[in-house]
Amino acid sequence: MHNHSPVFYRDLNAVPPSIVRGEGSYLEDASGRRYLDASASAGVVGIGHGRSEIWDALAAAGDKVTFVYNATFTHPWQEELAGRILAMAPSNMAGVYFTSGGSEANESAWKLARQYFVERGKPQKYKAVARWLSYHGVTLATLSLSGRTSWREIYSPLLLPVARVAPPYEYRCRICGGGRCTLACADDLERTILMEGPETVAAFFAEPIVGTTAAGLTPNPGYYRRIREICDRYDVLFVADEVLCGYGRTGHPFAISGWDVAPDIVTLGKAIGSGYAPLGAMVVSEKIREVFAAGSGRFVHGLTYSGTPSACFVGNRVHEIMSREGLFTRGAEIGRYLEAGLRALADRHPAIGDIRGRGLLWGVEFVEDRETRRPFDPKVGFTAKIVSHMRVNGILVAAGIPGINHGQGGDHIQISPPFTISESEIDVLLDGLDEALKRYGSVPA
Ligand code: PMP
Repeated sequence: MHNHSPVFYRDLNAVPPSIVRGEGSYLEDASGRRYLDASASAGVVGIGHGRSEIWDALAAAGDKVTFVYNATFTHPWQEELAGRILAMAPSNMAGVYFTSGGSEANESAWKLARQYFVERGKPQKYKAVARWLSYHGVTLATLSLSGRTSWREIYSPLLLPVARVAPPYEYRCRICGGGRCTLACADDLERTILMEGPETVAAFFAEPIVGTTAAGLTPNPGYYRRIREICDRYDVLFVADEVLCGYGRTGHPFAISGWDVAPDIVTLGKAIGSGYAPLGAMVVSEKIREVFAAGSGRFVHGLTYSGTPSACFVGNRVHEIMSREGLFTRGAEIGRYLEAGLRALADRHPAIGDIRGRGLLWGVEFVEDRETRRPFDPKVGFTAKIVSHMRVNGILVAAGIPGINHGQGGDHIQISPPFTISESEIDVLLDGLDEALKRYGSVPA
């Protein structure tokens, strides 16, 4: 039995509630039910819901907002937004290429990396390396990058085999064996590049803080410096996928700045348009810009909606709101309040095995046995129980993938609220999680 809607829904048998309005951290569905959106609708809505000043500004701009095709014309809003982004970017960054979302930004980055080596007379350097716990998008190329196995398998064979390295998963590290971190997971990149052949590898992709596949994984302070050294040693570009963790979510405009490391490309999405426009971006370093300028002078790429005026217009308004309200850095402080609340919950609930993250991107991993860190059997559906219990009580958190990578990791949820969330709304979220864990935490029902 499936529904007869004219929409081909992602899930034909369980069409989700229809949302009719939003305000701040809250959404309201057609029946009048309100939800605290502690996932910011997949980590997108940085400035909060229902900011009608964005639409007022768009209306006031009137016929100045017209469509132009990016190969024929440009327009002031893309210049303006690119300038704003570069002003907050790591100092080696020298250009912004706009896309209509995160997958497109990552796919563009892989293509850019490949052309970069073609420009340098090294066309055999085309491969990408990524990490096991990673999500870079759902196009065939970005699925090839992503380590999210349950979404990859249906579409195999994928476009290109991508070599994968160990994730920085301290709680379940299999290389250091639970002892002190030796950065062996970063060194795994060197081993992998050598096995692939350094003359064939173009780029290494990593989310500075991991999103949905193992929410909140935050590598230790030396990790990205080691990654940078390895990439430099083998002439491999380092692409930081900040689609989820960037643009203020961690309390920095650029998440990688938290490690004081300069990537070659940063991809952005989600909060840059904050759900008010389909917008993403690829921020490109001076080194890449110089090679293109001295070479063919042209990135052989371009989608119809690359840098489209209406999305860039909205992107500027989002940026203004973020700057005016201090939202590029607010995550650091309010995130400490959220972290303290989560840690207090862990003191009461043995089912919480690990709490990790930074700013307003947190993962809570659940375990059946805290002592041995044994995860719940995926058949228990622990995450689904927690998430649906919270949802029934009007609180939305994102479900991680239970039994990730064939049972190698545990159940977890991702908490990634709007950057505007208040302390009292965080209290509502924490009470909701407390309540769900009281119901399911000790004896799985
Ligand atoms: N990279 C990361 C880290 C993401 O979290 C996502 C989206 N969840 C993407 C890429 C893909 O972005 P989009 O859905 O906008 O294509």
